[in-house]
Amino acid sequence: SAVKPEEPAKAPAPDTGIKISSRERVIFPDSGQTKGELADYYEKIGPIMLPFLASRPVSLVRCPQGRARKCFFQKHDSGSFGPHVHQIPIREKDGGTEDYLYIEDTPGILACVQMGSIEFHGWGSRSSDVEAPDKMVFDLDPDEDLDFAAVKSAATDLRDRLSDLGLVSFAMLSGGKGVHVVVPLTPGHDWDTHKDFARRFSEALSLAEPDRFTATMSKAKRKGKIFIDWLRNQRGSTAVLPYSARARSGAPVAAPVTWNELKTIDAANIYTIDDAQKLTSRASSKTLSGWGFANQALPGL
Ligand code: ATP
Ligand code: MN
Ligand code: MN
Repeated sequence: SAVKPEEPAKAPAPDTGIKISSRERVIFPDSGQTKGELADYYEKIGPIMLPFLASRPVSLVRCPQGRARKCFFQKHDSGSFGPHVHQIPIREKDGGTEDYLYIEDTPGILACVQMGSIEFHGWGSRSSDVEAPDKMVFDLDPDEDLDFAAVKSAATDLRDRLSDLGLVSFAMLSGGKGVHVVVPLTPGHDWDTHKDFARRFSEALSLAEPDRFTATMSKAKRKGKIFIDWLRNQRGSTAVLPYSARARSGAPVAAPVTWNELKTIDAANIYTIDDAQKLTSRASSKTLSGWGFANQALPGL
């Protein structure tokens, strides 16, 4: 039989060593982006995302058939992600332990994308000491009929009230409807203290301006108001991580912004996975560098 000629050398695979299958599969049907394009986004964004993602327990939103089909929230390891996705046993409320996931590098991110992941959500503490929170997030969830201007003024009011307490905070567009006000904290307090601070701070705001804010989850009580979702700040809860793509229409991403920029932005989903280049150059610009980092202990309330 004839000797098969050697196949011509293919373009070298990216040096992550992670093979993305079905690159042409459309996973954002309204805007057309494919699994390959999502992987390319994460490969480019990896270096600026990792300071926020690495060494934190993460949960994934996986949509193996694309965002318009069934998606699921995955907290625990199913053993199928390969060697770049690590496990950390964490004590559960019932006294048992469960293996949570954490990632240290871009290949870890890509291994998750290969498994159909779109979104990355993180704990407010690090794998090195999961009992010591280092990040507080106020997730501003507007009632449907509120416009983005109301979300922005709520966010800047939170910033000012936090500043009164001596805390520096940062704004992140969620990629969905709202803004997250992020408060980096020096570890040194426990989860009960963390949650208690977030709850009391949010309740004080809603008590002062009950027509604008609510601190209770109930949708019925949210009519015309902004829910300050402080429940992101309890042990085991997560919030979407900076630069995570969202499994929503148009392939938006969660994007850090400066307080000054926020004034001129008119939606929480203006950046998408097509903007990797813009987002990386923004991240290294003077205005945005340092976003999400501050040395500050949680004060008493
Ligand atoms: P938006 O601005 O549209 O509200 P968001 O990311 O803030 O976007 P929320 O619905 O407010 O969305 O959810 C807040 C956080 O709750 C999410 O970022 C996520 O970490 C967590 N979360 C969402 N869905 C689940 C789920 N099914 N199980 C556990 N946690 C979830
Ligand atoms: Mn929200
Ligand atoms: Mn919420």
